[in-house]
Amino acid sequence: MSYLNQPVTPAVKIAGRQEKFAVRRVYCVGWNYEEHIREMGQEPEREPPVFFMKPPDALVPNGGLIPYPTATQNLHYEVELVVAIGRSAKDIATSAAKEIIYGYAVGLDMTRRDLQAHAKKNGQPWALAKGFDHSAPISAIHPARDIGHPLSGSIWLEVNGKRRQDGDLSRMIWSVPEIIQHLSGYFELFPGDLIFTGTPAGVGAVVQGDQLRGGIEMIDTLEITLG
Ligand code: MN
Repeated sequence: MSYLNQPVTPAVKIAGRQEKFAVRRVYCVGWNYEEHIREMGQEPEREPPVFFMKPPDALVPNGGLIPYPTATQNLHYEVELVVAIGRSAKDIATSAAKEIIYGYAVGLDMTRRDLQAHAKKNGQPWALAKGFDHSAPISAIHPARDIGHPLSGSIWLEVNGKRRQDGDLSRMIWSVPEIIQHLSGYFELFPGDLIFTGTPAGVGAVVQGDQLRGGIEMIDTLEITLG
């Protein structure tokens, strides 16, 4: 049996639809809520947004089990609004950004915080800290034509039933249209692209057996178990 030449396209469920959302790329924004920047020991300044990427096959569906990753003693959760892109665009203005949004989901940007701290200190990239296997749990995508474009609403996360993150989408430093404007200046966006838009304050470590439950008002609730 050969495993060559059999590419698998990761896909995410679409709420209320039979078809799935075939994923092309997973972009992420760092530092997008002031209180989270402060808890990470930095002062918020309105510098251009920081982008990094995760491999599309790091996505894990809602209800899934993720193994505790190798090479870390400090695995953190970060609950985030995820934007799903439905049309291609390059260098798009904030006023037109909504037109290319297919929908929204709840995601977790799982992070090897110890490796990220090491990378930051040494001016190294974040790939090992952010782009590992199973690092991107995601709920179903909810089409904007069903739920509209959420500008505010609570974004929260519980570990074993205890509330740890409690923010509001309205507190983002860079709004979704501004993120799309910046990102599309660096990369041509295409249908199938996902953008994780940053996490509010309250990040912390999890251990084997922990139950993570994160949600965004009017979008969805995402449940993941750490194996
Ligand atoms: Mn993040």
